[in-house]
This record gives sequence, C-alpha cells and structure tokens, in this order.
Amino acid sequence: MLKGKKILIGISGSIAAYKIPDLIRLLIKEGVEVRVVMTSASKSFVTPLTISTVSKNAVLTDLMEGDTWSNHVLLGRWADLMIVAPLSCNTLAKMSVGLCDNLLMAVYLSATCPVVVAPAMDEDMWLHASTKANLSILLSRGTHLISVGHGELASGLIGEGRMAEPFEILEWVKNYFLVTQSMSGKKVLITAGPTHEPIDAVRFIGNRSSGKMGLALANECLKRGAQVKLVFGPTQQAVPSGIECLHVQTAAEMYEACIDGFETIDIACMCAAVADYSAVSVSNEKIKKSSQSLNIALQPTKDILKHLGLIKKEHQLLVGFALETSNGEAYALKKLKEKNADFIVLNTTQDEGAGFGYDTNKVTIFDKSGAQFPFELKSKQQVAADIIDTILKQ
Ligand code: C5P
Repeated sequence: MLKGKKILIGISGSIAAYKIPDLIRLLIKEGVEVRVVMTSASKSFVTPLTISTVSKNAVLTDLMEGDTWSNHVLLGRWADLMIVAPLSCNTLAKMSVGLCDNLLMAVYLSATCPVVVAPAMDEDMWLHASTKANLSILLSRGTHLISVGHGELASGLIGEGRMAEPFEILEWVKNYFLVTQSMSGKKVLITAGPTHEPIDAVRFIGNRSSGKMGLALANECLKRGAQVKLVFGPTQQAVPSGIECLHVQTAAEMYEACIDGFETIDIACMCAAVADYSAVSVSNEKIKKSSQSLNIALQPTKDILKHLGLIKKEHQLLVGFALETSNGEAYALKKLKEKNADFIVLNTTQDEGAGFGYDTNKVTIFDKSGAQFPFELKSKQQVAADIIDTILKQ
C-alpha cells in the first residue's frame, strides 16, 4: 500500500533520533522513497552517514552547502507526507511561530504536503503549558500528531514523553494513507445549511440549521481524498480550501446547483434543511405593518432529494437526512422508500445534544434493506466519519 510513496523525514534534536534509522528501514521495506532533513542538534544523536546509508539518499542539513542552495520548496512539494520525528520542544516552538532558521524549518514552512509530528521530550517539558499551547496551534492548523508513549525517559524518570516506536509510526503512516485514499477518485455532492425563502424585500422564511453537520461531512470526504462539491445555504461557517463551494440562498437555487453535473457524482449527501415551502409571490417592497392579519400564500419547493432519487443511476449512492421530532424510525423508513435513497441518517430533537446548532449529534443510519446502525452522541466530525464508513462498507 505504501509502494511508491514519497516520505520526507525531518529529524530534530532528541535522544529518540537514534530510532530513526529503524523507521527508515521499515519504510523502505514497504517500498517508500525516503529523504531526510536533519537539524544540526540532531547530528549529536544520530550521524548523517547512518541516515544517508539506510535512506539511500544524501542527507540534507543546511540551507546552503558550499555555493549550492538547497531547494526547500521542491522538497516539500516532492513529498506525499512529511514526518517530523523526533519532534523536540525547540522545533515544536519554532513550528508554532514559523521561525525559519534552518533547512528543516524552511522545508516545513514551504511544504504543501500533509505533516505529522512524533514528539519526544521529558515528561515535565511535555506537560508544560507552553508545549501544550504550541502543539494545539499546530493541530489547529491541520498538522497530525503521533502521540507520545509512557515509559523510561532519557532523564531516567518514568513518565509521558517517549517518541512512538518506529513500528507504531509505520502503522500510523499505513492507516493515514488507507484513510486518505479510501475515497480517492470519488466525486461527492453535499448540501448543507438552511435555505432562505424571501417573502419581501427584507424578510425571508428560514430555519435554525447551522450547516455544521454538512460541513463536517464535506471535510471528512476531503480528508479521504474525494472531490467535494458543497452546495451551501446561508450560514456563518467558513469553508476550507479544497472544497468546491457554491453558496445559495433559496431551495430553487440549491436544486439548480445540485442538478447541474449530477451525472458525474458518485455519492450525494443531502444534509441541508431545505425549506418545504416558498412564497408564491415575493413583494419587491417591504410589506407594511397593518392591524389586519396577514396571509402569505406558500407553495411547495422542489424536493431535491426526491428528484435525485428519480434520476440517479445504479452506481450513484444517495444519502438523505431526517430530522424528526417524533416517530423517527417510521419516518426514516418512509423517506428511504419515497425518495429512493440508499441511506437515511436520522436524528431526533428528543436526543439531547443532537440536531440544529450543536457541535454534537446522535444518529441512526438506515440502509435500503431496512438495517439500522445506531451510534452514540459524538462530535459532528466523528458522526461524519461514521456515516462515511457505513456508506463505504456497503
Ligand atoms: O421530507 P423531508 O424534508 O423531511 O426530508 C429530509 C431530507 O430531504 C433531507 O435529506 C433534505 O436535505 C432533503 N430535502 C431536499 N429538498 C427539499 C426538502 C428536503 O433535498 N425540498
């Protein structure tokens, strides 16, 4: 599975650097092409000669060697993955602020590939508030972490801070590529958020959907290598780059955006809380207040999920959502049939922490055969992973 992958290892100054030749050996056995950048501090723990011998490539240590400039930009673009292992406290701090005083940092700052770090430090340093703050900055920017283990440390103390063993790092790398490739080549359409149906120049009919569940699904699919088209109703959520996002306001606009190019889609997840009705006529002026009651004539909107269910081809998977206040199971099963969906993801307002606005959700997935897959209350990101896992298993 790793055959032909290109991995760049950055070694920083920590005693755990002595384990990196083993890691390189394991990667090379899997058919990985390995290149290595070392900080000058790391050379006290493992020699460049050892590293270049096992990696079968010259080790890079300086921004300039003689009159030759090391092309750090190309190195970061060459790699499919950059592993910083061991990650010292010092290099972690530099990464969190973007300090560029050696080749490893220049490569890291210009890397376009994903980055994973395997820290190694004494327990007190690992538990220090600065280390925690620096690490959380890295994680918030999408850097991955292979967490430290518990055991004997260089200080002689027993505690947290040991770098993960080379075989554990290899397992992480294998799993990473397994997950990130699981949807490669797939095109996914996701609708998310509410719709706003105008009634006059300033007012609309809307709902409380935050768009968080659909965005979590879009992120999950992107992470697994899919090409993602997100048709997003009006929300406050920022959409990460890498997702093709079409912002829409109304159910009619959402319908058009979904139909356009639907034949190229492999999986469609209709997560949006689409308005069921829109105003028959929209006043160009603000409707004036009066003492009389006001009737606004409404007409049904087009049911996007139902329409896609009618036109979908054998190879296309269609996932609908159902937010119910009661009789969830019966409604979910009815929707599966009526809308010709392959899956319905049910959540009910009866479950605390589930539904509109929350960062968590509790869902049960129904498949075409009527089989049910219930899940616990989880973060919307984890729910998204469960949904995708369930779909891909079928
Ligand atoms: O029928 P109901 O609105 O409860 O079904 C919910 C499912 O149908 C959701 O997946 C929702 O995104 C989708 N839907 C749609 N177009 C509509 C109404 C609902 O795609 N006009």
